[in-house]
Amino acid sequence: MSKLKLATVWLDGCSGCHMSFLDMDERLLELAELVDVVYSPIVDAKDFPDSVDIALVEGAVASVDDEKKIKKIRAHSKMLIAIGDCAITGNVPAMRNPIGREAILDRAYFENATIQAQIPCVVVPELLKVVRPIHEFVKVDVYLPGCPPSADTFHTALTALITGEPLDIPALTRFGA
Ligand code: SF4
Repeated sequence: MSKLKLATVWLDGCSGCHMSFLDMDERLLELAELVDVVYSPIVDAKDFPDSVDIALVEGAVASVDDEKKIKKIRAHSKMLIAIGDCAITGNVPAMRNPIGREAILDRAYFENATIQAQIPCVVVPELLKVVRPIHEFVKVDVYLPGCPPSADTFHTALTALITGEPLDIPALTRFGA
């Protein structure tokens, strides 16, 4: 069997889902027999490839940059998996929604600034008015909840998806797990 192309993406999340993915430890070596990691914070690829078989996406959509990225990822991925509660519901990043973007920016860049109080307009992407889960922008094929999903969950789910075995996600994980 030829190897599948796997991408992992980090939008607005804490990287905890990626840390849990890495917690598969030696099972990552088994996984490496089945997939090539073609794009990820843990490899050096700078641009999302033209064709990916499985894209794992951590984090919510919080900025103009995130929105562009998730649309590009969807266009170039056969299967898109939302990993973790932030990607699926907004979770922690969405806690800013009731406060409002302007109040958050004021707090960060004016009230707490001791010098050069200003909202950055270069390098730092512009925040969207509200943080939203990724399915509000693109079609999601598989939802893998948890904060974060455990390493066992990643291992079982990925193995099943790669080999085409049945996958019972509620038996593996839940929101807040
Ligand atoms: S779901 Fe939890 S662990 Fe994953 S990015 Fe969000 S806060 Fe971090």
